[in-house]
Amino acid sequence: MPRESKAARRERTAAIIEKLQQRYPDAHCALVHRSPLELLVAVILSAQCTDERVNIVTKDLFRKYKTAADLAAADPRTFEQEIRSTGFYRNKARNIIGAARRLVDDFDGKVPATMDELLTLPGIARKSANVILGTAYGLNEGVVVDTHVIRVAGRLGLTSHKDPVKIERDLMELVPRDLWTDFSHTIVFHGRRCCTARKPDCAACPVNDLCPSAFTFPHHRRQE
Ligand code: SF4
Repeated sequence: MPRESKAARRERTAAIIEKLQQRYPDAHCALVHRSPLELLVAVILSAQCTDERVNIVTKDLFRKYKTAADLAAADPRTFEQEIRSTGFYRNKARNIIGAARRLVDDFDGKVPATMDELLTLPGIARKSANVILGTAYGLNEGVVVDTHVIRVAGRLGLTSHKDPVKIERDLMELVPRDLWTDFSHTIVFHGRRCCTARKPDCAACPVNDLCPSAFTFPHHRRQE
């Protein structure tokens, strides 16, 4: 197969985005939140945990802790138990309480809206900062590269890398900047509903004519 030029890949990416946006017009961040602070907490809790589980836990959590000052003053042992079911609860409790203290001390209790400032908070790496900036503030600073984006972008041939930083760089080159956040949400929806890890449903996929991996999986071969 001839190597795809950058221009051709960009064109294919635009067609993929258009079709996926038609399929998932409601694609959005699945973490329930009403403010940048709630999103920050939910994002930290979502590491190695499903969004559904995080949403169950934050329902009660956000009733009790309403501000950064509330979180900064939380009793660590109690807080650990309150978030226990999301896994890695000791680390997460330390990061959330630590981040809240930084917000109170350095940011007037508010979540900052720049990448550099967000990266100074414990528990916040580039992926989480992209979620917060894109979803809470509408700022396209990068593409969120989570497990779904890694898998789907790879299958679609939009990147040949495995490292999230390199994948993000490839996607930032291919996707127009004003679409970075929407693109991430759309790909995550597609990864959850169609291009799943174990059994991608290529027959029902709206971009199977644009995907180099279409119908190449073991369950397709078994049907031949
Ligand atoms: S054609 Fe198959 S592998 Fe490609 S994006 Fe669609 S579901 Fe995923």
